[in-house]
Amino acid sequence: MATGRVDLDGNPIKPMTICMIGAGGFIGSHLCEKLMEETPHKVLAVDVYNDKIKNLLEPSSQWGDRIQFHRLNIKNDSRLEGLIRMADLTINLAAICTPADYNTRPLDTIYSNFIDALPVVKYCSENSKRLIHFSTCEIYGKTIGAFLPKDSPLRQDPNYFLLKEDESPCIFGPIEKQRWSYACAKQLIERLIYAEGAENSLEFTIVRPFNWIGPRMDFIPGIDGPSEGVPRVLACFSNNLLRREPLKLVDGGQSQRTFVYIKDAIEAVLLMIENPARANGHVFNVGNPNNEVTVRQLAEMMTQVYAKVSGESSLDTPTVDVSSKEFYGEGYDDSDKRIPDMTIINRQLGWNPKTSLFDLLESTLTYQHRTYAEAVKKATSKPMTS
Ligand code: NAD
Ligand code: UDP
Repeated sequence: MATGRVDLDGNPIKPMTICMIGAGGFIGSHLCEKLMEETPHKVLAVDVYNDKIKNLLEPSSQWGDRIQFHRLNIKNDSRLEGLIRMADLTINLAAICTPADYNTRPLDTIYSNFIDALPVVKYCSENSKRLIHFSTCEIYGKTIGAFLPKDSPLRQDPNYFLLKEDESPCIFGPIEKQRWSYACAKQLIERLIYAEGAENSLEFTIVRPFNWIGPRMDFIPGIDGPSEGVPRVLACFSNNLLRREPLKLVDGGQSQRTFVYIKDAIEAVLLMIENPARANGHVFNVGNPNNEVTVRQLAEMMTQVYAKVSGESSLDTPTVDVSSKEFYGEGYDDSDKRIPDMTIINRQLGWNPKTSLFDLLESTLTYQHRTYAEAVKKATSKPMTS
């Protein structure tokens, strides 16, 4: 653990206690690990699961005195306020945040992303505690360019697609496209936090992640998650590769995304944690504008990288097209393109992502292969029961 840490303005950083809600998830597990390995801060880790941070919590772990797990559901647990009061800073990561849920479980999605987050905001505001809240890039919805004719040269103009925290509109589809239930709930909680800042001086930072990916993201269906579950694209494609099935391209895989390596993104969060004077009152895009691909290109790259790290040949037909209705059901819709503008995070925190898409896929798929290949082989070779 480093001592004598200073912030970006050269001031010493005092050890703090952080109440991290959703600490057992993908981002939370990486953030806990980073805080334990590189800082003197303490973590009150709140979640309903802790599998992804078990290594940090074991009695034999060297971090045992700085991380404490509290298994609680923030929907209905009166211990939450006490934990927030004990901490200097609360980070809220808890959410339903897999697209397969947005159109099929819209009520749970709205409750999780808005209603369940309300007490967290309220307790922070009432107890004058700082809050870092995790929103989403999906708040921007579709780009303005998506509404231009396909051959319009304006589609190449960044004014029509670059997503800026302080300028871009939020463009969601119609109400029967329940995909937007998540974005809409996240937008309302962002506005509520902003209003708490304006009217009640809540010290807040809002994070808008742009497709953070890496080891421990979601689950592999039938191995460490439900066999009928549909995780986010990294885990879907990893599952297909592990099972030697074609990767499914939803509606032709034409949507575009920028992917950032989780370890780069966590650096940005640590800067926010340790530089409150620069982070408070801001909304930050956190992504890698240089790592843009279509979903089809992602599938091709993952196929190539997986062949390299596993030593297995690729399938003759590596991808298959599937309609969104078939894959996600009624009410699915998609964000067409997501490129983060980096001006504000550069200016406030001097942060830039480092890892190329190829490199991040190489380390992530090496992890996926090492972690799951044997288990998938066992599961698929089990004799069928009649
Ligand atoms: P995740 O699903 O891996 O983690 C969320 C964690 O919150 C889970 O461990 C879950 O058990 C916990 N949780 C949910 N509801 C809870 C409750 N009621 N009580 C206690 N714990 C609860 O997701 P993640 O990828 O780590 O995302 C974290 C946050 O970042 C979410 O708010 C998500 O919307 C946002 N986000 C992430 C990405 C990304 O690229 N990973 C993109 C956009 C937004
Ligand atoms: N997608 C796909 N095949 C899959 C899973 C996802 O083509 O097996 C597409 C999905 O339709 C979307 C993109 O991949 O266009 C990213 O999906 P993800 O679930 O990661 O979340 P999103 O970026 O939409 O929030």
